[in-house]
Amino acid sequence: MDYRSLRRSVAGGLDRLEAAFGRPRLGRSLPPLDELILTILSQNTNDLNRDRAFRSLRQAFPTWESVMEADPARIEEAIRCGGLAHIKSRIIQEVLRRVRQERGRLDLDVLRRMPAEEARRYLSGFRGVGDKTACCVLLFACGHAAFPVDTHIHRVARRVGWVSSGATPATSHAVLAGLIPASRYLVAHVNLITLGRRLCRPRNPDCPACPLRRTCRHARRGRPPLRGAPRPMARAGRPA
Ligand code: SF4
Repeated sequence: MDYRSLRRSVAGGLDRLEAAFGRPRLGRSLPPLDELILTILSQNTNDLNRDRAFRSLRQAFPTWESVMEADPARIEEAIRCGGLAHIKSRIIQEVLRRVRQERGRLDLDVLRRMPAEEARRYLSGFRGVGDKTACCVLLFACGHAAFPVDTHIHRVARRVGWVSSGATPATSHAVLAGLIPASRYLVAHVNLITLGRRLCRPRNPDCPACPLRRTCRHARRGRPPLRGAPRPMARAGRPA
């Protein structure tokens, strides 16, 4: 498929996802530094536990200053429900110390005024902050055009055929950011994650129920029956 056809196919797929899942809006609007800490807490856990850990941290420590200066064991305790508490507590304190040292205050609002690429490079310079985390901060808190690719989006994109099946997460990010119009980044990000969680699960994807099944490379190869279609009869002479 040439690039123009692929872009059309992606646009059609996003239309079908919007028809199925709607046009979700972001339910939060946090300052960039808060969004960064929230996204660090989201690593290797679900949204519910991420939010619980963030709330618990804010309740235990009213300011980022107090988090920065706290005994790491107390932070660990506060965010334990989000998993990987030992690592995350250290990363959060390192981020806060570096922001304070480089910016003179615990505030990253400057990212909103930086060019997106510069802001992404700045964030990616922190230990424990990868491309996905940086893009989440840029998209959700800074209003920049950035397309975060998480594990669900990476899996869906490879199965559908929007990126090659052997693509790395970095390649998926680069390819998808070019294929998807910037104006659709937010809705596409949320809907692809919804698809990955509900239907295109790591194991046993529910292809018959999927809005992308007709154009999906994985579904075509596996040829799962369309939902509601009669199952093919077993051939005579072969075990059913
Ligand atoms: S058709 Fe199946 S493999 Fe393809 S995106 Fe949908 S659930 Fe995933």
